Amino acid sequence: MSLNLSWTSWTAKEIGTQTDSVLASKRAGLDAVFAVPDDERTFANTIAALEYADNHAADIQQQLDLLVNVHPDAVIRDAARVAVDRIEAGTIEMEYDRRLWDAMQAWVAKNETLDSVDRKLADDILRDLRRMGFALPDEQFTELKRLTTELKKQEAQFEKAINDWEDHIEVTREQLAGLPERYIDGLKKSGDKYIITLEYPDIFPFMRQAEDSDARRELATKNLRKGGAENLTRLTQIIGLRQSIAQLLGYASHADFACEVRMAKTSATAQQFLGNIIAKLTPAARRELVGLIDIKKRTLGLEKRAPIHFYEMTYWGHRLLKERHDIDSEQVKEYFPLATVMEGMLGVYQEVLGVQFVPVAGASLWHDDARLYEIRGGTSLVGHFALDMHPRKGKYGHAATYPVVLGRKEQDGSATTGLIALVCNFPKPTESDPSLLAHDEVETLFHEFGHVCHALLSGGRWQRQNGFGVALDFVETPSQLFEEWVWEAPVLKRISKHYQTGEQMPDDLIKKLQAARHHMDANHYLQQAVHALYDQRMHSLPLDTTVEPNHLAQMHRDMTLQYEAIDLPDDAIMAAGWSHMADYDAGYYSYLWSKVYAIDLYSAFKPHPLSDEVGRRYRDMILEPGASKPEMNLVKDFLQRESSDTAFLAQLGIA
Ligand SMILES: [Zn+2]
Repeated sequence: MSLNLSWTSWTAKEIGTQTDSVLASKRAGLDAVFAVPDDERTFANTIAALEYADNHAADIQQQLDLLVNVHPDAVIRDAARVAVDRIEAGTIEMEYDRRLWDAMQAWVAKNETLDSVDRKLADDILRDLRRMGFALPDEQFTELKRLTTELKKQEAQFEKAINDWEDHIEVTREQLAGLPERYIDGLKKSGDKYIITLEYPDIFPFMRQAEDSDARRELATKNLRKGGAENLTRLTQIIGLRQSIAQLLGYASHADFACEVRMAKTSATAQQFLGNIIAKLTPAARRELVGLIDIKKRTLGLEKRAPIHFYEMTYWGHRLLKERHDIDSEQVKEYFPLATVMEGMLGVYQEVLGVQFVPVAGASLWHDDARLYEIRGGTSLVGHFALDMHPRKGKYGHAATYPVVLGRKEQDGSATTGLIALVCNFPKPTESDPSLLAHDEVETLFHEFGHVCHALLSGGRWQRQNGFGVALDFVETPSQLFEEWVWEAPVLKRISKHYQTGEQMPDDLIKKLQAARHHMDANHYLQQAVHALYDQRMHSLPLDTTVEPNHLAQMHRDMTLQYEAIDLPDDAIMAAGWSHMADYDAGYYSYLWSKVYAIDLYSAFKPHPLSDEVGRRYRDMILEPGASKPEMNLVKDFLQRESSDTAFLAQLGIA
């Protein structure tokens, strides 16, 4: 099927028509499945028919979602946003239909023999319907639907309260000592005072570099109260609703309910993983802390060693980084003009994965800045991707990968190839400004492009089994693996060219970057693990207990002291401002979990980072299967052994 780009030029009116057509085709698809007599049910006319009916709707939903985020015209963005909401609401209404479950049960009774790919599709769909409450008696099913609706509402309010939360400190010019001029120039002012808000561009540099310790304490304390007491109470209500849902569905906890569909399978496994990592990281983390205590004593001329407070970790960590490694990040940037990095990166991916990227000339997308590429494997077309790299008004402001069309087989046997959009916000290069990237931006680029390749290379049969469809605690793994490349000398050479001298990054600068990479990382990952454990624990409290706001906050303060040796103020209510509790509940461990797997998988590349032989195996055994096999099987197949945390810990210097 040739690539359809007509959606890029839809008018607001056409968006409305498309929305109607999605809802109508969804309705017709479901009705067709309902109409099959029970004794004639087959995989083809029941499970597969539902999938096929979804293909068209999914394309349009994804195209609309991209338009919301990238279209230059606000009228189109708004129309697309309304359409996305309408489709979502309409779909939920249609899918909460008991006839769907009855049809599935009639098919299950026929005991049809399937191959493993179709079997996984059927099992996953049945499992998801059971998790929606379809196996429950009518009264409980209705109750579950009510609880779910209420939960969604509360989660949205919880998130909104965090987004709307505004707090700040006001400081004098003197209190900004230690901060760069560029930062100070960007601050808002109130009279003579400078305003430091809780927004990342304000608070991060301030906590890292402001010499005024009292001001840092004041700001950090406010940050630990983000969301406010009311939001903490709301979170306890949200946890209560999640408990009620888990109880109705027969789970021991919400955390178990959430983990069932992931690699971890149970909360116990996730907690065991976290406990184990915490124990192994702790000695190294404490050694790092001693380093901070020493530099603090030395720098301030203290008589005795003083503890590191919650508002001092990043500050002394940064001081120590400068003392030990002294990397000039501006100098590093000079080696990374956007065009060189892009060309180098595409080259590395092509070579290692054995694919070719070919620019498509003259393709008309949503904006002139967006460029279309074909991805080919030998003579066959694998799919397309679009790069939209520069900022503009109304565009999504970070780096993200959007599925537009996911590859699959159609009902008539033909193949649809995928289209993925990579959206970034690097300044447009000009004659005088080559758009220089910081090293962490290069890392993000490699990460996001990993999602592009995972999505395009995966999923042969069902779009649901695309790379984007793998479990939450595995979906970042392939991309996290590709991040490793930007720390390897041969890759850094290939993607760097000094914007003035044209030289590749010199060996000594590469060595410096590598040496500083894991500075304070034991504490970084320890904190991540403790947060993740907190998330698991708050979502696995006994189902018949009512969670008290004070208890919830106390739990976090206790765990921080016990595991991180950091004493938080008595009024700290971190969870009230933790937006992941709305959308990543009982899932925060995924970041660390997927990272450990990524580093383990990367151990196969480690001796030869650019080996096309390993790359080919990685493509065949991890990327291409997508979600058509259990993730743990992919890992074992590739590694030819059980996975372990050894490589991850070794990278941090922990044996
Ligand atoms: Zn990612």
